[in-house]
Amino acid sequence: MKKTTIGLSLIFTLLLSVVSYAANVGRELNNKCRQNIKLLNNGTELMLKKTSRELPRWVSYKQAIKDFLYPDKYLEDKTIVGPTPDCEYYLVSNDNNDYQWLCYLHGVLDGNKTLSFRYHEHQFQGKTSDRFMSNEQYKKHVQNMLHWTEYSPTPKEFLLYHYNMNPIVTTIICVVLVVGSFYLIKSFFKF
Ligand SMILES: [Zn+2]
Repeated sequence: MKKTTIGLSLIFTLLLSVVSYAANVGRELNNKCRQNIKLLNNGTELMLKKTSRELPRWVSYKQAIKDFLYPDKYLEDKTIVGPTPDCEYYLVSNDNNDYQWLCYLHGVLDGNKTLSFRYHEHQFQGKTSDRFMSNEQYKKHVQNMLHWTEYSPTPKEFLLYHYNMNPIVTTIICVVLVVGSFYLIKSFFKF
């Protein structure tokens, strides 16, 4: 009986430590990325006020900071790092009055369509804007975002995702399943 109790407590502790790690991580990543896009939009606005430069129709963050968005002059944060490996930043513009920075994974801040998708164990929301759909590179980016809506998670990601959505219910279901399987195996092998 003592062994059973120790075994069950160990499994329970292990399960809790795995699931609590994932708590609210998705929301934090979303916010961090939105913050980066805001900084880039603000920096570009400042640059346009001070220069007469024409914005390119599409440019990556790396190229932009070399060409015109000098971090020391225009950006509050000198090195902008995406919170996920797929967060890469690009500027899309129709002209100097109609532009937005976007994350390749999360999209733009101000868009007319919202996409909800799974990114590994996280639930993310992203926005796209039809205003830029005549831009081929922007179109490709929207297709990339759509591909994430078809993403199928691994079993571990599936578990972590449900924990993020509803921690108490998921933990209870997991514990019931683990305890149930334990007693099933125990009765089967009669130990
Ligand atoms: Zn992002």
